[in-house]
Amino acid sequence: MTDSPVSAGFDYLIVGAGFAGSVLAERLANDGKRVLIVDRRPHIGGNAYDRYDDAGILIHPYGPHIFHTNSKDVFDYLSRFTAWRPYEHRVLASVDGQLLPIPINLDTVNRLYGLNLTAFQLEDFFASVAEPVEKVRTSEDVVVGKVGRDLYNKFFRGYTRKQWALDPSELDASVTARVPTRTNRDDRYFADTYQAMPLHGYTRMFENMLAHPNIKVMLNTDYREIAEFIPYGHMIYTGPVDAFFDHQYGKLPYRSLEFVHETHAREQFQPTGTVNYPNDYAYTRISEFKFITGQVHPHTSVVYEYPRAEGDPYYPVPRPENQELYRKYAALADARSDVTFVGRLATYRYYNMDQVVAQALATHRRLTGAAQPEAETAG
Ligand code: FAD
Ligand code: UDP
Repeated sequence: MTDSPVSAGFDYLIVGAGFAGSVLAERLANDGKRVLIVDRRPHIGGNAYDRYDDAGILIHPYGPHIFHTNSKDVFDYLSRFTAWRPYEHRVLASVDGQLLPIPINLDTVNRLYGLNLTAFQLEDFFASVAEPVEKVRTSEDVVVGKVGRDLYNKFFRGYTRKQWALDPSELDASVTARVPTRTNRDDRYFADTYQAMPLHGYTRMFENMLAHPNIKVMLNTDYREIAEFIPYGHMIYTGPVDAFFDHQYGKLPYRSLEFVHETHAREQFQPTGTVNYPNDYAYTRISEFKFITGQVHPHTSVVYEYPRAEGDPYYPVPRPENQELYRKYAALADARSDVTFVGRLATYRYYNMDQVVAQALATHRRLTGAAQPEAETAG
C-alpha cells in the first residue's frame, strides 16, 4: 500500500495558542490540514490559561476569566472539548463604606441613598437625575445619560481613570457600556444565556482542542525565531498587529495590568467572586478564584489587578485616534494575502472570549469556504 508522500512542512503556521489560534488550529486540523501552533509563552491558552498554584488552588494567572455567551453555536462548539460548571458571576463595588451590587440595580440605589424605591420608582429616579446627552459618544455620556452625575462619579469615573489612565470622556462609549444599568434586583454581572466555567479548567479544554495528530505545539517560541526555517503555506497571526509590522506607524496603545496573587490561610477572603474598588487603592478589583471555579479548599487564593501602561498587552484602548491608527495597520494586514490576522490583539478589538471564538470560527469558514453554520456573531 502506498501512502501519499509526506511532504515537508505545514499547511499553516499559527502564531499564538490562545482562543483565536487554538480554535483555528483545531478546525483546520479537523479538515486534514497540518498545523504548527507556536506561542512565546511557556503554556497554551493565551490569557485564559489557568493552573494550580502552590497551595493547590486553581487560579487564572492573567486575571479572572468568566465564560458567558448568547451564542448557542459558540457554546456548542466549545462543549466538544469540555464539560461545564454553571456559574453566574456577581460583583460588589466598594462605595461610601458599603459593598454594593454592580451593575447598578434597585438594591444599589436603595442602599446607597437609604431609599426604599420600587422598580417603577427607580425608573423615575433615573429619569430625574440623568443628564441630557444629545449624542452618546463617550464612556462618560453613556453613564451620566442614564444614571446621572453622582452615580457616575461614585461607580465609574474613578475606576475608569485608574483602569485606562484616561477620563471616561476620552474613551468610546462601548467601554462603560459593557456594564448595564438595571431597575430590578438582578445582581448578576452578566445577563447572557450561557454562563458557565469549563469543569476542569480552561487549560484542560485547550489541551483537548489541540490533541489532534495534525497539530504540533511549540512553546517558548517567538514565531520570528522559526518562521524562516520551517516551511509552511499560510500564517495565522494572533499577536499584536503593530508588533507584526515593526511598529512602523508608531505603537498602538494596549493597556496592561500587573497581577498580584495571594493565598490566604482561611476558607473565604471576600463575600463574592469579585469586589471592585472604584475610588480607593491603586488596584481596580480583587477576585477570589474559588467562587469562580467552585473548588473546595481550606485556603483561598485571590488576585489584585493593578493597571499599567507598560507590560504585556491586554486591552486595546477604544478611542477614535487609536481606531484611526489601527486602520493604517489593518490596511497593511489586508494587503498580506499570506497572513490572516485574528483575535483581540491582532484585530484591536475589546473582545470577550466568546467573541474571539466566533471570530475564529468565521475566519475558518472564510479560509476554507466551509458551509457549516458555525457562529458568526456572539456576545
Ligand atoms: P490571547 O489570549 O492574548 O492570545 C494571543 C497569544 O499570542 C498569547 O498567548 C501570546 O503569547 C501569543 N503571541 C503574541 N505574539 C507572539 C509572537 N510574536 N510569537 C509567538 N506567540 C505570540 N473574556 C471573557 O469572555 N470573560 C472574562 O471574564 C474575561 N476576563 C478578562 C480579564 C482580563 C484581565 C483580561 C486581560 C481579559 C479578559 N477577557 C475575558 C478577554 C479574553 O482574555 C480574551 O478575549 C481572549 O483571551 C483573547 O484570545 P486571543 O486568542 O485573541 O488572544
Ligand atoms: N467600570 C467601572 N466601574 C466598575 C466596573 C466597570 O467604571 O465598577 C468601567 C471601566 O471603565 C471598565 C469598563 O467599565 O474598564 C468595563 O468593565 P468590565 O468589568 O467589563 O472590564 P474587564 O472585565 O474587561 O476588565
